[in-house]
Amino acid sequence: MLFDTHIHLNQFSDEEIKQILQQSNLQGVLAVATDLASCEKLLCLKEQYSNLYIAAGFHPEQALPLQNEIEKLFDFIAKNHHKLTACGEVGLPHYLKRENPALDYQPYIDLLERFIVASKRYDLPLNLHIVYEDTEIALELLARHQIQKAHFHWFKASNETLEKLLLTPYFVSLTPDILANPKTQKVAQTFPLERLLIETDAPWQHEGFKPVEITQQLVAIIQKLAEIKQLPEKVVAEQISQNTYSFYLTK
Ligand SMILES: [Zn+2]
Repeated sequence: MLFDTHIHLNQFSDEEIKQILQQSNLQGVLAVATDLASCEKLLCLKEQYSNLYIAAGFHPEQALPLQNEIEKLFDFIAKNHHKLTACGEVGLPHYLKRENPALDYQPYIDLLERFIVASKRYDLPLNLHIVYEDTEIALELLARHQIQKAHFHWFKASNETLEKLLLTPYFVSLTPDILANPKTQKVAQTFPLERLLIETDAPWQHEGFKPVEITQQLVAIIQKLAEIKQLPEKVVAEQISQNTYSFYLTK
């Protein structure tokens, strides 16, 4: 069975959402939020689909919300944490900073720390948007709060940073860009199979797929991963499924 551990489900139309969640062989998806409105939309959708798991968070690659909205988001988490499977997508704005090196990072770091504290308080795994050198900042925060469950989605980093993450108990996920991107292939090679998850980040447009084709994308990741790990596809699929279960679906 396949499970997508990072999808922006609310960015699809209602018809597409239905089509996605009814795909045979799709055990479920973890839909991540990008702001308060998407948290609310996902909570509504969750009432309608038994294989939909949801997260609450604020995507870091955008301007920070007003204080008032931030408080509402944390109220949302406090009120609905029993219905949440994770805290995400949260992290740091690596790409915004690349465009604007003068960007003040501290407020983003502070917001991430608040999400980390909330995730610990409500026993929710973290679904993280953290790449490259931001990993160092994140690892410090995660250590400070003694976080056990952190998932670095679509992880990319230098070899040196990769080695640092390898020393932690944290997980990373692979998207269909594993088919062509040497950086993602390197992550797949370096991390033990027991610490890998798979995701689409849909509706992200991965070459050769329609964004609604979730199972096709997940199968393609498994096939490529099996080739990289030199293991039978079935073994890889089963281990990934077990990883997903122990990381997200059990407390
Ligand atoms: Zn995402």
